Amino acid sequence: MTMKLLSVASEIYPLIKTGGLADVVGALPAALAAEGVATRTLIPGYPAVIARLGKAKPVRRYDALFGEPATLLAAQVDGLDLLVLDAPGFFAREGGPYGAPGGNDWSDNWRRFAALSRAGADIAEGALKGWRPDVVHVHDWQAAMTAAYMRFGAAHAVPKLVTIHNLAFQGRYGAEIFPALGLPPEAWGVDGVEYYGGVGYLKAGLVSADAITTVSPTYAEEIRSPVHGMGLDGLINGRVDRLHGILNGIDTDIWNPAEDPLIARRFSARAPGARAANRRALEKAFGLDQDDAPLFIIVSRLTWQKGMDLMIQALDHLVGLGGKLALLGSGDHPLEGAFLGAADRHRGRIGVRIGYDEPLSHLMQAGGDAILIPSRFEPCGLTQLYGLRYGCLPVVARAGGLADTVIDANEAAVSAGAATGIMFAPSDALALHGAIARAVRLHGDRPVWQAMQRAAMRADMSWRHSAARYAALYRELLAEAAA
Ligand code: ADP
Repeated sequence: MTMKLLSVASEIYPLIKTGGLADVVGALPAALAAEGVATRTLIPGYPAVIARLGKAKPVRRYDALFGEPATLLAAQVDGLDLLVLDAPGFFAREGGPYGAPGGNDWSDNWRRFAALSRAGADIAEGALKGWRPDVVHVHDWQAAMTAAYMRFGAAHAVPKLVTIHNLAFQGRYGAEIFPALGLPPEAWGVDGVEYYGGVGYLKAGLVSADAITTVSPTYAEEIRSPVHGMGLDGLINGRVDRLHGILNGIDTDIWNPAEDPLIARRFSARAPGARAANRRALEKAFGLDQDDAPLFIIVSRLTWQKGMDLMIQALDHLVGLGGKLALLGSGDHPLEGAFLGAADRHRGRIGVRIGYDEPLSHLMQAGGDAILIPSRFEPCGLTQLYGLRYGCLPVVARAGGLADTVIDANEAAVSAGAATGIMFAPSDALALHGAIARAVRLHGDRPVWQAMQRAAMRADMSWRHSAARYAALYRELLAEAAA
């Protein structure tokens, strides 16, 4: 029988995206459908979302949800079955999903995402006529309170899981907000929403959920240590029997070099030579010299997590070795400035685009030789998966999901024809230098490089295995709840 799943998240591709979370939340429903799971996804009604809704049906009204009038709208967009929390007081704003344009987080984020979570729990309790979920799956801190509201409310018996996409973002607020959350007094405390004297949204979700998943097996191990646990390692270790590492997949329809409308020329593992036209288009887009030097790309948030400060230290070295770089990203202003400065110093060798550009990111994967990902930690990482599929070989730090998805070009892997990229450790400037030098050397060995490209492009990046694991976990939780 088809299982009914409610997914709750703050982003979903292609309607609203700031990172990998959106890709995952957008791709899972189709993959789960093949496993007999019908997903409805609850998201906030940001302007970009409302603009895409077309015919939407109001299915529940609130006179005041955390003080604001709100409506739950049901709509189908691009094959996604959506429930949208239309609450203009919270979500009809210029800027990003979490903050003002180029500025700080909204000061009422605690209320905005408590409202989203409250609506999620209401749906679990049967707020919609004719539809009630069998299982509820919530993503990251913005939706995590759904699990807490469920646990302390009428839907406590409905199985719920929380997925951690990045433990660095936790939704931490002062204790003073607790009375406004509408939770019973017993929800306060270390076994509830309390976290180091304040309120922790992700923490509340993690203690309340029946299962915790994160997006790669290695990250599931790493977050048990103080270095990567970010204050939650004790809690996570206490619930390790409930913890699962399930690797992200990619949407192989959207990221398919043989059919991608966003690139200059389509290609496949059988004929990767056609990548050359994409390379030329990419060089042109970034004002780079047209030559056959190794062309590195970066598509990333420009932050410490992503090791972008290490990258800046490696730029002169990269150019000195004869390499070129095309970078697309935005983030910390000092890092943006440093990359722009390097592009000025190395005209024709380094090209930088500050901003967010989905189509350009496709062309970069299609035309680049290698994608650099020197992350200090990386729960899963998607750009290396896109790189593999497009034959843009990942050069990655050995961290989290990067370690689970890239096969380093050591002697054994190269001679077995298994290598798909280059991996380095630790995540520091010296090791990154070494990895760039290895990439340049390997790139010069055409037969080896092309064999790696073929192996990379043939690897299975789809959601098939992981969707089956999620579905199995949902069924396990349902069986447990019925017992
Ligand atoms: P994270 O979610 O931590 O930022 P991921 O690698 O999991 O990192 O996912 C990042 C997603 O965002 C990928 O789909 C990547 O292509 C995309 N992305 C990141 N920065 C940009 C940008 N500046 N322009 C276009 N796409 C970007």
